[in-house]
Amino acid sequence: MTLLKPYLILIRSLLFILFDSIALWVAKDPKRNQPKVVLLIRQDAIGDFILWLDTAKEYRKHFPPENHKIVLIGNALWCDLAKELPFWDEVLTVNVKAFKTLSRYRWNIIRKVKSFGAEIAIQPTYSREFYHGDSLIRASNASKKVSSAGNMSNRDRLKVTILREGGPAAPQIGDEPQSISKASEVEGYVNVVARILTTKPEVIVRRDGSGQIDVTRGRLADPSGSIGFLSWVPFEHQEGSLVKITGASVRKFRDTPEISINDGTVIEPYHDTAFPDMSELAVSTKSTIADLRNGMRDVGITLQVESWNQRTFTSEDGSQKVVRSGDVIDPSGRCRLTAWCEFDPAPGDFIRIEGGRVQFWQGSPDLVIDQREQVIDLSDPPWEKIDPEGHWIDLDLTSLVNGGSRRGIRTSGTVVAVRPDSGIVERCPECRRVLRDGACTEHGPQRGQEDLRLRFVIDNGVSNASLLMSREPAEAFLGLGMDGVRDQIASEGREGFVASLRARALSGAMVIHGRTIVDDQGAMVLADTAELEATSPSEAAQKVMEKWGVVL
Ligand SMILES: [Zn+2]
Repeated sequence: MTLLKPYLILIRSLLFILFDSIALWVAKDPKRNQPKVVLLIRQDAIGDFILWLDTAKEYRKHFPPENHKIVLIGNALWCDLAKELPFWDEVLTVNVKAFKTLSRYRWNIIRKVKSFGAEIAIQPTYSREFYHGDSLIRASNASKKVSSAGNMSNRDRLKVTILREGGPAAPQIGDEPQSISKASEVEGYVNVVARILTTKPEVIVRRDGSGQIDVTRGRLADPSGSIGFLSWVPFEHQEGSLVKITGASVRKFRDTPEISINDGTVIEPYHDTAFPDMSELAVSTKSTIADLRNGMRDVGITLQVESWNQRTFTSEDGSQKVVRSGDVIDPSGRCRLTAWCEFDPAPGDFIRIEGGRVQFWQGSPDLVIDQREQVIDLSDPPWEKIDPEGHWIDLDLTSLVNGGSRRGIRTSGTVVAVRPDSGIVERCPECRRVLRDGACTEHGPQRGQEDLRLRFVIDNGVSNASLLMSREPAEAFLGLGMDGVRDQIASEGREGFVASLRARALSGAMVIHGRTIVDDQGAMVLADTAELEATSPSEAAQKVMEKWGVVL
């Protein structure tokens, strides 16, 4: 019987697909005029639905009622409640039990879903099930189908996907110049009027060994900001000149936009006596730690050194090299500074850096200098000395999600999910990745090393982020060592452990000290410490329900 079971499941699945296909085949194609129809497909339980409501209102913002119709395809258990809410135009009630049979009922629902003529179908549910959610998505015949890959961490990813469905900022056509701050937000064709702050010839060596290309790098500025440029064609304009650049394009180098100048770009002198001069514009290239993004160049920044050390290593060519690095702070935060030159500041020193570059180190910005001349020691303190111990920058979740990766931050949010893979994991001894079925994706089967980690999703009503507690903060949060956690999992199973964690943390207000990693996948908060605020979960739940006028 156990051997037969997989085949029976497969046959059952195929039967359902066949059934649905016939239902769809005989259903007429709906007319695709009128407002765009967006389907939200959720078939899960009422608790998950309520937790999702804060996110649900975001869809209405992305798909405004003037030109969109949002249809929620919901579980009959909570559809009456859903109909009272203003976030959708129509609710289609699905009786999940009846739908999971090859019946007249399923037939009608499948055809009804197709008849909406949806452009976009979204399944924002964390547990996907073939028999309902996915088959409804399929029935919708929407040209854009969005499903989460099967867990809550993808909530962040899902949001990103939806933003993209809305379409990227349309590249501007025509010769009207844009401000540099606007140009930095688009990718594609731009025109700008800007003053040339710096130009420097450089050589790019082709990776395939077929030679090298002479290019010019530099920086452009206008009153709205500054941006780096890379010219692939001879660039003869001087530093300080004001120019109009037509037909350039904006490309992203890592997380940093850059203007690319090529054959098709026209650069001509521009006259505007009111345009700010060099000294006024130079101010705009000064950064703070909060502004740093991966791939930035020409960074001017003032810093207080917190710690400093050096390390000797053997480079690829066999020679001994020294790398110096340490933590630096400014009023906006903290980051790492790496020096590939003889530079030995003392903790508490104030320094000014010119022409620094930013690379990523463990997901956080790392300022890099290559020459001692890039550093100026400041005798006059730019600010009253900051105590590194208590230097935490308060950042609300929305700013955090919309900003760059940061260290030394304090934030808070409501716990809306506890990830079921929280607890003890086995890591690859080579690369520290979590092993799946005893194997590392990179290094194959391994004898794993035990580690403890807890994973959550936190939300402030507008934005959400993943929260990760590694062993030390997790032990402090649980008030239990890793041995204690192992014992608990041994007696209650991982599900039992996660259930007790849910009972304690879900809908609680979590305050976190730590750092963030923000990328295309969304935002992740890595806790140094995390604790729940004193409000009890039931009080918090009560607040959420009052806010939404939910009566259970
Ligand atoms: Zn590995």
